[in-house]
Amino acid sequence: MTSPAIAPWLQPLWDGLDFTNFPSAVLLHGQSGIGKFEFAVALSKALLCESQHIDSRPCNQCEGCRWFSSGNHPDFIGLVPETHRKRLPQSGMDVDGDQPKKSKVTRDDSDADNVEKKEKKTISIEETRSAIEGLSIGSHRGGNRIILIYPLEMLRADSANTLLKSLEEPPVNTIFILLADRVDRVLPTIRSRCRLLTAPRPNRIEGLHWLQAQLLGI
Ligand SMILES: [Zn+2]
Repeated sequence: MTSPAIAPWLQPLWDGLDFTNFPSAVLLHGQSGIGKFEFAVALSKALLCESQHIDSRPCNQCEGCRWFSSGNHPDFIGLVPETHRKRLPQSGMDVDGDQPKKSKVTRDDSDADNVEKKEKKTISIEETRSAIEGLSIGSHRGGNRIILIYPLEMLRADSANTLLKSLEEPPVNTIFILLADRVDRVLPTIRSRCRLLTAPRPNRIEGLHWLQAQLLGI
């Protein structure tokens, strides 16, 4: 599996990232549906890639990339609603002959059914808590550990407080990639602890060309 495609209008944003000195928390924000999620997934993969690469693109060859593409990287935690799970790399692709393991993004199953339904569009508090509590342990592969959270504005107040504590004292080698459609709905205390990345909107022609290419499968 190759890396998720980065929309052309987001490429300059990517090019402006300093992979040699990456901040411990970035907040990528911009209009819904302009490719932020795919950008964040590609960014996670690049930050977990274990090859020395010049252009900061994931190599798609190393163990880190292979684990990531199979949805089983032990140092990647995606805190996303059910609706976005399928847009993360999936387990079960069996890229290297290993048994697919239970994904890190599976939900806590102790919740009652009705809570589960309600949480389909939000992020589970249990998941957030266990993900953030687990940060005191070192990363599994000795490199970076990535926590991707989307949509940040849907994080419940108690989860947001837990997150805030981690942002105040970032655990070693841990990078938070936070995504929001509406940055004005993100707690200012969280916002102020992140490097803000503003995802630009495509212009009309650019957007149409891109959509056309997607539809034609180019
Ligand atoms: Zn790699």
